[in-house]
Formats: sequence, structure tokens, C-alpha cells
Amino acid sequence: MDPTHKFMTPPLTLLLGAALLSCAARAQTPNPEFDTCLNGLRAPARAAGVQDATFVQHTQGLVPDMTVIDRLNFQPEFRTAIWDYMAGLVDEERVEQGKALMAQHAETLARVNERFGVDPATVVAVWGVESNFGQSFGKSPLVQSLGTLSCFGRRQAYFRGEFFATLRILQAGHIAPERLVGSWAGAFGHTQFMPSTFERLAVDFDGDGKANLMDSTTDALASTANFLQKAGWQAGQPWGFEVKLPENFSAAGEGRRSKRAMSEWTARGVLRVDGSPLPASGSAGLLTLAGPQGPAFLVLRNFDALYSYNAAESYGLAIAHLSDRLRGGTPFVTPWPTDDPGISRAERRELQTLLIQRGHDIGMVDGMLGDKSRAAIRAEQERLGQEASGRAGQKLLKALRGG
Ligand code: CA
Repeated sequence: MDPTHKFMTPPLTLLLGAALLSCAARAQTPNPEFDTCLNGLRAPARAAGVQDATFVQHTQGLVPDMTVIDRLNFQPEFRTAIWDYMAGLVDEERVEQGKALMAQHAETLARVNERFGVDPATVVAVWGVESNFGQSFGKSPLVQSLGTLSCFGRRQAYFRGEFFATLRILQAGHIAPERLVGSWAGAFGHTQFMPSTFERLAVDFDGDGKANLMDSTTDALASTANFLQKAGWQAGQPWGFEVKLPENFSAAGEGRRSKRAMSEWTARGVLRVDGSPLPASGSAGLLTLAGPQGPAFLVLRNFDALYSYNAAESYGLAIAHLSDRLRGGTPFVTPWPTDDPGISRAERRELQTLLIQRGHDIGMVDGMLGDKSRAAIRAEQERLGQEASGRAGQKLLKALRGG
């Protein structure tokens, strides 16, 4: 849940983090223009329910973090392929961790399901994709990043709304100020809610009087389910399923939003991927994120609820697929249409280790492929006579394993 998906794909956002942090120090210096801007925000903040004392307490001595403006303006060099995106987000590691957490939080998840009608695997899948089950929240103090975005760059009006929401959250005492850190664009906590989403949908489910999406897993799981319920989640219904298209099927004009009756899909020769017939009733849209030769899915109303969490179909599919894997489901039957499939996070770490062994200075082995890793990958691809794309796939990994 991050407004930045409109400018870059989510995995790239993660990858860029490491490279851009290095310039944080130089960017955080006093700035008279910022001070003037902040002063000017005091009255509108008051009108938006932020008391003067709150405003002063949290903005006194605040300096801007101009790296968030760099990130706002960043144009990705290349788009991440859907198979790379999925390989990193739905890998064995995340499936195993998710299953363990489903068992650990079984009682809470059952209560959440009872209250909001969203099943445990779906809730845990959102948690896993949004914050790696609470292991990556982002490191930008919200008041600083949203204050900066309120005063510089494009979309200032939008970010001011989020800035004021942040100050109201602090004013209400839901979360301690020093704990309120998140992505550079202001998404925070286990569920990576934006502050305004927090105000609309965060739930106090452990009963301590605070909705704390940073420190209460119980509150976070319930808030995720509340979000999906308000987005139209239908209890007991699937998100959709993988299908098999007949030869020469024309998918032109089809998509998530073009819902057709199951009987119509059946008449056009669509079957479930195991060859069994489609359900007799209901309606669904056809999702093919890599063309009709790649995996194809019929998606129901619940997929739209997942989509609304981040407004990206690739994102919705990652959550949907992870939820199926958490229920014991298999990887997709139809392979992605590529001769060089993507690699998991464990394989990314292995690749980084191999690059270091070959003398490349890429920093830490963290599974995140930043600028240094990309440069090293290009160098190795050149040496091996592969296309020097900087992209990490199975081909390069296999070649480096072989020495
Ligand atoms: Ca609570």
C-alpha cells in the first residue's frame, strides 16, 4: 500500500533502497525554504484537527530529507518482468515462514476470520508481501519524509493530507513517535498502510485502546482483514484459479474488469488448469499478465479486493498465489513464457555470494540487487557472452555455479 506504485513497480522500490540511502547524510541539512513551508502548514494543519502543541512538538528542528524527492522523481531503468517479481515474492522461504506464522497466530486469525470474514491464508499472504511478515517496515521517519514531500516535488497536496494524518495519529497516541517509521512515501507497519488508510481502517483488536500497526501483530492482522472486507471481500469465495486456454484462444480485450459468466468461458473452451470443468455459476475476468502463452487465470470479485490494496495486478496475483501456497497449493502449472526464469531470494543471496567470490565489491549479501550487484551482474554476463542486461536469472546463476 504505497502511492509510489504508479511510478515504479514495488520490487524495484525495494531494490533501490540500498543505493539511495548512501546519500541520506548529505541530504539532511537545515533548509530555510523548508522552515518557511512548515510554518505555512500550521494553519491548514490546525484546520485538519492537528493541535498547535502537536504540530510544534513533532516539527520543531525538523530538517527535510531530500532523498525522498529523489525517489519520487526516479524513473526506473527497466521494468521488472512478472516472473522476476513473482519469483522473489512467492518463494519457498516465504511460503514456509507464512505457514509457521499461520500456526503461531491460529487463534487470532480464527477470531479475525469470524469478525471480518477473511480467511487466515489471505490475511497472512498480505502480511508476507507487504512487510515480509513484519521484518521490513522501511526506515524513514514518517514526519520527516511526509513533511519533506509536503513542501517539495510534485503531489504536495496529496502528501500534505498524509502528513496531517500522521500528526493526528501521533496526537491520538496510537503509536510512539520514535516508532513511526516506514517507506520513504509514508506506508508503515506490518500492513504498510498510508496514514490516511490507517485512520479509516486500522483496528484495535488486542483491546489495549490503541490501533498499533507497528507493534501489535493482532491489530495488524485484523486491520488487513478490515481493509479487505471494506474493499468488498466475499467470505468463503476464492480469489480465482489458474485455467487452461484452448489453442488459438483470443484474449484480446479481456482483463480483470471484463467479467463474464462462467458458462461463457466454458463455451469458449476454458478449463481449470487440471482439465476439470469451471464452476457452474458465478462470473470472472481473464487475467494473463504475460500474454496468452503464459499462466492464465480467471479472477473473481475477491481478486479486485486484493488489487485495491496496491492497485497493481501483479501485486494482487502475488498475494493470491501466496495465499494458495499457504493452503498447500502448488506453483503455477503453466510456466512463464521465458527461457530464463526468475530467482528466489535465497538464490539472489547465493548469486551475490558467487559475485563476491569472483572479486566484485557489491556490499552485503542481503538478497537485494542494488546498483553494485547489477553492475557486477553485467560484468559477469559480458564475460560469459550473455546479454549484459544486469538482470539476475537462472541462466546466470547456473553459469556462475559451474565456475
Ligand atoms: Ca491494540
